[in-house]
Amino acid sequence: MKAVIFKGVNDVKVESVPEPVIVEQSDAIVRVTTAAICGSDLHIYHGKIPGTLPGMTLGHEYVGIVEEVGPQVREVRKGDRVVGPFHVACGMCRSCRRGAYNQCERGGVLGYGIAFGNYAGSQAQFVRIPFADFNLRKIPKDVSDEKALFAGDILTTAYGAVRNSGLLPGETVAVIGAGPVGLMAVMSAFVLGASQVFSIDLVKERVEQAAALGAIPIPSKEMNAKAKINEVTGGQGVDVVIEAVGGTPTLKLAFELVRGGGRVSAVGITSEDKFEFPLMQSLVSDLTFRIGVANIHRDIDAVLALLQAGRIDPTTTVTHRLALEEAQEGYRLFDEKKAGKVLLKV
Ligand code: NAD
Ligand code: ZN
Ligand code: ZN
Repeated sequence: MKAVIFKGVNDVKVESVPEPVIVEQSDAIVRVTTAAICGSDLHIYHGKIPGTLPGMTLGHEYVGIVEEVGPQVREVRKGDRVVGPFHVACGMCRSCRRGAYNQCERGGVLGYGIAFGNYAGSQAQFVRIPFADFNLRKIPKDVSDEKALFAGDILTTAYGAVRNSGLLPGETVAVIGAGPVGLMAVMSAFVLGASQVFSIDLVKERVEQAAALGAIPIPSKEMNAKAKINEVTGGQGVDVVIEAVGGTPTLKLAFELVRGGGRVSAVGITSEDKFEFPLMQSLVSDLTFRIGVANIHRDIDAVLALLQAGRIDPTTTVTHRLALEEAQEGYRLFDEKKAGKVLLKV
């Protein structure tokens, strides 16, 4: 089959690899119909994720049709149209029983290398999904493939980040980063009741997309984000900051924008090991800081329900629909911020 293979820094190629087979009785094989390129794939592309070796199959966002199931699989059947979380979980271990599916003792991330379970990725014609009953969701009839795809990662990641912030109806939110995840955070913040949402990014075109969703755009190369937010909030700062970039500069900015008693909820991925935590400010200003890998299994059903109800449309972020064979071009365009969300049609 054809698959997107990581070849080295800034280098991916579509190559022929063996098709996956059922290994465990609880596995399913899914025939991928649409996959997507994520900002998280770019960290591998940049050579920043330890344990991602040349030759591995990339990708963790997908929708598809179940092709084959192992003898223990009960809930999903051959022919079902499905989506699944980017990280897989067993549903049975101590972490899963506590609802910490992103901490599953047998879990991992599709296409994220040996430090994350060594699972082959989904930017391919077929992908093996372990614990299929737990990791696949049948897509409601009236939700399109393209909408459902976003429930497996970035829409649910963004929704979860806003949920983790404890946002209350009427509160104000600043979202740092207006890549696809940041844009989904803007949508999620409005759906969850924000009164005003600021969208901050270095790339002007990206905050303009957020403005089309109702956000107040802050192109941070041209405008000081803190000054703008202080002007609109009467010097208070925002109740909630969602950080959707990753790394020190934007985490620092998050602490500059949040009001006393407010919350910072970060989802951006970074390879930095440490961040100088503003201890005194957090103490005196009574701040809450939250960061983590998304807990997709916790929120995916709520997000699918929002998609089904037509309350949110993540496909407005899609700028390119390419064939799987054109993945190399897709990575280049997305990395250079010349594309928004890139879908790969298989
Ligand atoms: P992306 O690369 O398309 O978007 C990142 C955006 O940040 C870009 O628009 C870029 O211009 C902007 N940016 C960079 N530096 C900035 C700065 N100093 N100030 C303001 N904006 C800045 O990626 P994406 O797909 O939107 O993903 C965003 C982040 O979310 C990535 O780090 C990704 O790995 C992460 N992510 C995390 C999880 C999780 O489970 N925690 C899940 C999905 C994605
Ligand atoms: Zn992703
Ligand atoms: Zn588990």
